[in-house]
Amino acid sequence: MIEIRNLTKKYGQFTALDNISFDVKKGEIMGFLGPNGAGKSTTMNILTGYMPCTSGTVKVGGFEIMENPKEVKQQIGYLPEIPPLYVDMTVEEYLKFIFELKSVPLAQRKRQMDDILYLVKIGDMKKRLIKNLSKGYRQRVGFAQALVGNPPVLVLDEPTVGLDPSQIVEIRKLISSLRHDHTIILSTHILSEVNAVCSSVVMINRGKIAASGSVSDFTASEGSVNKFIVSVVGNKSAIQKTISEVSGVRSVTFMRVDKDAALFNVESAKNVDIRRPMFNELARASLPIIELRPVGRSMEEIFIDIVNNDKAAPADDNK
Ligand code: ADP
Ligand code: MG
Repeated sequence: MIEIRNLTKKYGQFTALDNISFDVKKGEIMGFLGPNGAGKSTTMNILTGYMPCTSGTVKVGGFEIMENPKEVKQQIGYLPEIPPLYVDMTVEEYLKFIFELKSVPLAQRKRQMDDILYLVKIGDMKKRLIKNLSKGYRQRVGFAQALVGNPPVLVLDEPTVGLDPSQIVEIRKLISSLRHDHTIILSTHILSEVNAVCSSVVMINRGKIAASGSVSDFTASEGSVNKFIVSVVGNKSAIQKTISEVSGVRSVTFMRVDKDAALFNVESAKNVDIRRPMFNELARASLPIIELRPVGRSMEEIFIDIVNNDKAAPADDNK
């Protein structure tokens, strides 16, 4: 459905996107994951025709964005980082305005308006001025705006940023409910968001693709789990030594200190469940486990590496 090839974007001398390529298949929810400044919004602005690229091609439903911008735009509903809301309008007035803007045939408007209000659950708010809505409701209006014209592709730029936890859950539910009829790209800097709603992931860092694949490629499935992140309180080397002596453990790698606990990446031989013996040995050594969780192939590791490297390196060494 979406085909991005060798996309490069320069802002003056600065290369924001460096030759990136990826595909999003029809019906997929792709998580576009990366720390702040990675190039997510830039990619989305190019994909939706809001900004030209420096080089490369972007195809949506077979149409190339530079050659057929109108056809591409018709297929995409875009929720930008800052939704373009007119706060002095009521929800209904604003959406009518968007119907006009997107030239939706008159005969379809009433029906679509009702469907959208129902879907994003803002029917009760339609007479309210947008400026009087909470952040969560405004985000829903932003969603509603993206759904006008019933585009098959939705591009959502950090749709849960700035929302409180219950609003985040609601927005994720909304996204999941849209998966049946839409191909979705959702950007986020939060790894767990990808696990919660996405079917595939493209990780981007400093304008380059760091990793990509289906979420299930990354997530360990039952039986094949052989990596854990273990968080233990106590002396770092004592913990490392104790875990490494557990039968079946292949490697123990120190990751970082988090408050008073040390985090380790523990790999075990396949088909050996080291959790119980590891618990017992650490308990015997009075080293309490405060968290133990299986991790997938490496989405978490890759992402942690990316974030750590980002902290270590100066932000503007892009050549
Ligand atoms: P993300 O959405 O992943 O946080 P962006 O795509 O917004 O990242 O930005 C990628 C990089 O490009 C950042 O280093 C940012 O500072 C830079 N950038 C973004 N927009 C502009 C612009 N209009 N002019 C110059 N640099 C920009
Ligand atoms: Mg952004």
